[in-house]
Amino acid sequence: MTTYGMLIDVDRCTGCYNCFLSCKDEYCGNDYPGYSASQPEFGQFWMNIKEVERGEYPKVKVDYTPIPCMQCKNAPCVQVAQNGAAYMRDDGIVIIDPEKAKGQKEIADACPYRVIYWNDALQLPQKCTFCAHLLDKGWKQPRCIESCPTDAKVFGDLDDPNSEISKLKASGNYEVLRPEFNASPKVLYASLPKRFISGEVLLSDKKSECAQGIKVTLQKNGARVSDTITDVYGDFEFDGLEQGTGYSVKVEFDGYASISLEVASRIDTHLGEIELVPKG
Ligand code: SF4
Ligand code: SF4
Repeated sequence: MTTYGMLIDVDRCTGCYNCFLSCKDEYCGNDYPGYSASQPEFGQFWMNIKEVERGEYPKVKVDYTPIPCMQCKNAPCVQVAQNGAAYMRDDGIVIIDPEKAKGQKEIADACPYRVIYWNDALQLPQKCTFCAHLLDKGWKQPRCIESCPTDAKVFGDLDDPNSEISKLKASGNYEVLRPEFNASPKVLYASLPKRFISGEVLLSDKKSECAQGIKVTLQKNGARVSDTITDVYGDFEFDGLEQGTGYSVKVEFDGYASISLEVASRIDTHLGEIELVPKG
């Protein structure tokens, strides 16, 4: 048995839109009977790139999260479809039949991830198919995977323990989008944007130099969560943190009085300059 899945590492995605464009190239103006009708040039984003800006000046981060159909095991779109118009193949790919689905707007409305697009002209719900028409011809991966210059996406057989995607999944370093939907998606994510705390350390008696190599510890309820050292500019950052959780940051350096700061904000926080003063 084969069950196709995709793992997307958001840290590796540069937002170049190659995957989006290769999807357009494959589907705009092309009908694949039994798989999909032509994707309109505008208004549909079968491989959508969601841009998220975090933090505020002077510390802003931008992340790009590619969002195709999640190929859910418990797919609400399949559950509401009449006459088998949306169904899951033996290899796990969810297909919306371009003939049988005509007029069934409820299929588009049922998707909790909002990745089905309603084609008014054709009266048809449409979405990503994992390029099933190519896989059935012997291709090993969809066009969006092939076109990614940073290998941000891995595609493969989740049932094969030796496939790259299975090995990555086995590491446990992944999550799914919106698990509360209980849809069991087969598109998995690594490094989904979360929350960061950052700052810049200065030594009060050496302000003309960058304070590199200063130890900074992140704590929660008085217990160590993680630590780091400042970079060549004296900057530090903790990312991937829980939203809505209180943290404190401790800055220590030999010969200087250490400083602990409570991070009251529950969102992305840049602490600005933290100045260490020599002891005594
Ligand atoms: S993400 Fe939406 S369209 Fe894709 S399988 Fe799940 S419910 Fe269906
Ligand atoms: S091709 Fe790769 S790097 Fe470019 S937007 Fe898509 S996933 Fe991101």
